[in-house]
Amino acid sequence: MSKILIVEDEDVIADLEKDYLELSGFQVELAADGNKGLQKALEEDFNLLILDLMLPGVDGFEICKQVRAVKNMPIIMVSAKKDDIDKIRGLGLGADDYMTKPFSPSELVARVKAHLTRYERLVSSNARENSVIEIRGIKIDRTARRVWVNGEEKNFTSREFDLLAFLAENPNHVYTKEELFREIWDMDSVGDIATVTVHIKKIREKIEFNSAKPQYIETIWGVGYRFKV
Ligand code: CA
Repeated sequence: MSKILIVEDEDVIADLEKDYLELSGFQVELAADGNKGLQKALEEDFNLLILDLMLPGVDGFEICKQVRAVKNMPIIMVSAKKDDIDKIRGLGLGADDYMTKPFSPSELVARVKAHLTRYERLVSSNARENSVIEIRGIKIDRTARRVWVNGEEKNFTSREFDLLAFLAENPNHVYTKEELFREIWDMDSVGDIATVTVHIKKIREKIEFNSAKPQYIETIWGVGYRFKV
């Protein structure tokens, strides 16, 4: 059974989310402040995290950043302010989805299910193939979802990893931002193609010696990107 952590300081909302998710067969734990939420998310194993932005103690931005540095599970961020959602996107903290309050609990359940299905499919298909891609100093272990650059391990968010792995699996193929967005962010209800640009930038900062002159992920002006071999 999938286990979900909800970090939310408004009891009414937290209880509502918990009730709906439990009715859908999920096991749910609550944390009502940021410090407790961060600690639970880091120390215990959850399949998915639902994270409110404004919290007493550590805020949602910081929790997302710290959790993402060490864990790959899907993170859905929620906020009462549309502006905050734009800010979260811009920061590229590695959240997988964003919802603006108020939202319907059934929509939350639908998104939770979609993210879990997608994540589990990725993890299990990687396990079956047990594949490692090595190209000019970059080693991508799809099974363990780990990346090394010239022997040094780098931390990737789940979407950054998916994007890098997809490009590296299809070298010399030029993809448009729209194609990459469809491939990696397969729920058309959220996000936009600007997200692709942000993620490419983050990946380059980790794998390229000089991000301004990328040796791996090339920009094909007016078209998109390709992984060069
Ligand atoms: Ca709050």
